[in-house]
Amino acid sequence: VPRLRDPQQQAVYRWEGEWKAWNTSSATLPELRTVIRWALKRYGMKTMPTVKQHGGGKYAWSMVPGDGTRPVISFQERTSKNAATALHEISHQICDFVFPKAQDHGVEFLGIFMALLQDAGVIPVSALHASALTHKLKWLPYSEVGPAALRKRK
Ligand SMILES: [Zn+2]
Repeated sequence: VPRLRDPQQQAVYRWEGEWKAWNTSSATLPELRTVIRWALKRYGMKTMPTVKQHGGGKYAWSMVPGDGTRPVISFQERTSKNAATALHEISHQICDFVFPKAQDHGVEFLGIFMALLQDAGVIPVSALHASALTHKLKWLPYSEVGPAALRKRK
């Protein structure tokens, strides 16, 4: 169910649009499952989503059914099968679990996504943060929402 207020969503999408590697398919579904499993393990979470792909639309998406059945992450087959998109989508599921009332692309979500991008070494953290700041993005620091901080909180 889309939330009524998600004021940072468009800025997050614009920021991500600047990174070419985040908008092209370069990984297989098994490789993306490995990335997702790694992220869940860092946060001490066990529920591995079903990971699939779709041909229509422009974006990847993540869904956690309300009935307790397995979550799903689906990648747009031509544009989004890459590690950064996998980390974006699994960050939604981690964030929903720890901060169920947070905005979809709010400071909690982006803090978790940043922490995973940093730990994965996708790009140097200084470049990552500098580019996000040019889009006036806000996120919680690693010390508050990095894996060690959230594992303690659960
Ligand atoms: Zn998103």
